[in-house]
Amino acid sequence: MSNPILNMQGLPPFSHIKPQHIEPAIEQLLNEARKQIQQLLDDNNDYNWQNLAQPLEELDDHISRAWSPIGHMHSVVNSEALHEAYSACLPKLSAYNTEVAQNPRLCAAFKQLEAQAEQLTAPQRKIIANTLRDFRLSGIDLSPEDRDRYKLIVQALSQLTNEFSQNLLDATDGWSLNISDEARLAGLPESALGLAKQAAEQAEVDGWLLKLEFPYYLPVMTYADDRALRQEMYTAYVTRASDEGPNAGLWDNGPIMEQILSLRHEMAQLLGFDNYAEYSLATKMAADTDQVISFLADLAERSLPMAKKELEALRAFAKQYDGSDDLEAWDTTYYSEKLRQHQYAISQEDVKPYFPANRVISGMFDTVSRLFGIKVTQIDGIDTWHPDVMFFEIRDNNDTLRGQFYLDLYARGQKRGGAWMDDCICRRSDSNSVQHPVAYLVCNFTPPIGENPALLTHDEVQTLFHEFGHGLHHMLTQVDYPSISGISGVAWDAVELPSQFLENWCWQREALDLFAAHYQTGEKIPDELFNKMIAAKNFQSGMQMVRQLEFSLFDFRMHKEYDPEGEANIYSLLDEVRQQVAVIKPPSFNRFPHSFGHIFAGGYAAGYYSYKWAEVLSSDAFSLFEENGIFDPETGERFLSAILEQGGSKEPMELFIAFRGREPSIDALLRHSGISA
Ligand SMILES: [Zn+2]
Repeated sequence: MSNPILNMQGLPPFSHIKPQHIEPAIEQLLNEARKQIQQLLDDNNDYNWQNLAQPLEELDDHISRAWSPIGHMHSVVNSEALHEAYSACLPKLSAYNTEVAQNPRLCAAFKQLEAQAEQLTAPQRKIIANTLRDFRLSGIDLSPEDRDRYKLIVQALSQLTNEFSQNLLDATDGWSLNISDEARLAGLPESALGLAKQAAEQAEVDGWLLKLEFPYYLPVMTYADDRALRQEMYTAYVTRASDEGPNAGLWDNGPIMEQILSLRHEMAQLLGFDNYAEYSLATKMAADTDQVISFLADLAERSLPMAKKELEALRAFAKQYDGSDDLEAWDTTYYSEKLRQHQYAISQEDVKPYFPANRVISGMFDTVSRLFGIKVTQIDGIDTWHPDVMFFEIRDNNDTLRGQFYLDLYARGQKRGGAWMDDCICRRSDSNSVQHPVAYLVCNFTPPIGENPALLTHDEVQTLFHEFGHGLHHMLTQVDYPSISGISGVAWDAVELPSQFLENWCWQREALDLFAAHYQTGEKIPDELFNKMIAAKNFQSGMQMVRQLEFSLFDFRMHKEYDPEGEANIYSLLDEVRQQVAVIKPPSFNRFPHSFGHIFAGGYAAGYYSYKWAEVLSSDAFSLFEENGIFDPETGERFLSAILEQGGSKEPMELFIAFRGREPSIDALLRHSGISA
């Protein structure tokens, strides 16, 4: 079988993947898979692991190996032709997945396997349990009419979430502001000015060009003295893809959001759940919707007093600073930065010279080398999707290859914003061979400007560690079956454990000394600056906490309380949640949900709470390193073997207890956030 988009012998053939090949290639692959499944079912009456589950694991692996690079390129080097090809494949893939998940013969065959528990290994039993659960969640028990309806809903949702992302991307790309009067940019650091200058040159206009991608937006909100400029940019940013703002109605996600909520609710009810939040929890670590709501409410109650005090302090400071007494949404970041500088005499810009990207990357590798005994090496000459992309391999202390990854660091046009890790190839192994896991690590950092190396903010350093934590979870797995190896099959609310866990090392002197050094002088971070960083670490952490809780509660309650008969008003619920947990009330034209891709286009629907949930796990896990030493090799080895290597082969609570020796406690998170002593 030859396929122009799939190379089963090695890495994806990125530079050879042509948009016109994609749809026919995927179609061919899906049709072959259909035939093979039929064949597997016809060839036997007595099913077992070897003649059913094993070949299906391989089949699924084939499809995800072909599709992963397409979805990835769609995110990082999008084009009209690629978007068309990608969009054309979505309904085909979704139809195939639903077909398989609703195949009654296949489900019956898996029930035979379930009855053979004593002949199966624990990971095999886990896969069978997951598969039977997924059959139920895919409507296997529905009447034929309901099953057809379910199929239509799944396909429609896949299209709608894709449209949501595309609107957001187009709306972000669709606004820019050309500035010719340098005075308007007063306050901006050199790096932000350089970026805006570079953008103007690329667009062949005079002066400076501001865009809505984050590396342009954030410095303006943080540093621009021109209040009108901040207001203009804030307005454009928070009204992207909506019915408000400078491009009102052009890429409006509003109707799409309504449809998504309505279809999710209908699907959940078809499957016997009261609402989509319940459906979401069927595959998560949290026990039920009440547990999630009370978890969030409890955190809010503990954090609100501090958040309120922080906001009062900010208001008082702004008044004293320049007489401002009407703090608007486009002012809070600006005065917060001034207050941070006033209180701690430190800004993000002060530490940037100590974080040149190349040193941060190699220091991060040293850190995980000390923790887990692994070695990361760059490999040249690998085919990728863009010249900026680097490629690395990971070997363990027996020099055994464990995994490989691509690293795509910088923001550019037609690349989705944010940072993420995704799987390219999953670990799969039989007695003859090992298919090594491969990951994509993607960030949107400020690219190098002129001759200088790219300098990262400390936030960006944390982001990099975060994504690398996900990457290690995917790449260091020792599980042999792709459906539960690495991050596959890991509950969403536990999947942020390794990523948030690794961020902790960005705050440790011993770790920073491995990599933070001035890009011109090579000098380490001076004690005075480091002490300021630590002092400022929990600056406004109460306000940040309640903001995350606001997003989490809004997402969860929106899916839990959706009423198809009632006035589905996203914004009135958001107001209600804000009454409960928010300290800052944005202006009425703010359309933040219209760009909330995590829940409308990503996997976080009724699951945004997962970040805080997993932060409890990651803080508590890190506290064992605080007790034993942050580079204690035995504790590192235990984290590696109890968590990172296990993937989705066991329940997250079981894995956590294996590492920590007890159930998770909220104390470490509150202590790390400065909310309790
Ligand atoms: Zn993450």
